[in-house]
Amino acid sequence: MHTLTGLLNQKLMIYPCAGKYHFRLDYSGRNSLAIRFSIRLNTVTISLGNLFVIASPELLSLILERILRRICRLEADLGLNKRMTELIGLEFPETGRTKPTRTVEHYTPAGRYFDLKEIFERLNLDWFRGSLSCPTLGWSKYVSRRRLGFYDQQRNLMVISRIFDQKNVPPQVVEFIVFHEMLHIVFPSEKGRSRRIVHSREFRRAERSHPFYDFAETWLQKNLHRI
Ligand SMILES: [Zn+2]
Repeated sequence: MHTLTGLLNQKLMIYPCAGKYHFRLDYSGRNSLAIRFSIRLNTVTISLGNLFVIASPELLSLILERILRRICRLEADLGLNKRMTELIGLEFPETGRTKPTRTVEHYTPAGRYFDLKEIFERLNLDWFRGSLSCPTLGWSKYVSRRRLGFYDQQRNLMVISRIFDQKNVPPQVVEFIVFHEMLHIVFPSEKGRSRRIVHSREFRRAERSHPFYDFAETWLQKNLHRI
């Protein structure tokens, strides 16, 4: 969210006509690439689908700029719109509106301090008898505290927030986060009575069986806002 707010402030300098509004920004929706904004009195609410959490700052800037141009009632900038669609296609190849012409290539498992692939394979052997095939795996493109990691079944994509690729993050925490996402492969979300159950009882039980469970949870509670 810091990034989004920061990008918005930069853009507001170019579009002072939108400066009279208060802005509210949020991510919402599951696996969504929706881009919505509404104006009520002097408040503009911008709501982006939660997949944009991992979008590049360039793409987020273009989205914000497009919205600001509309708020200021400026003519659509066709070059800008084209570049935005292009980037959505590149960064979200299978969910974007453009044809999925490329594989997910932006994610690399080897970080500065932790190699996710190595962690995945080790956990796979220790906990799943090597039965899981490794999805497209990598560090998020930019730092997110809101979303520590996710596994997207449709894209067979596992992404861990880059915030954890740091020297002062204990390896047990990274391992536990990867383990959590691996459980999403083993226990896919189920349809409940009124909403989808993402973390079923079996999921939670398996998660608690990991020896780093308590350590990781406690560490995250204490340190997540500091790293
Ligand atoms: Zn989860």
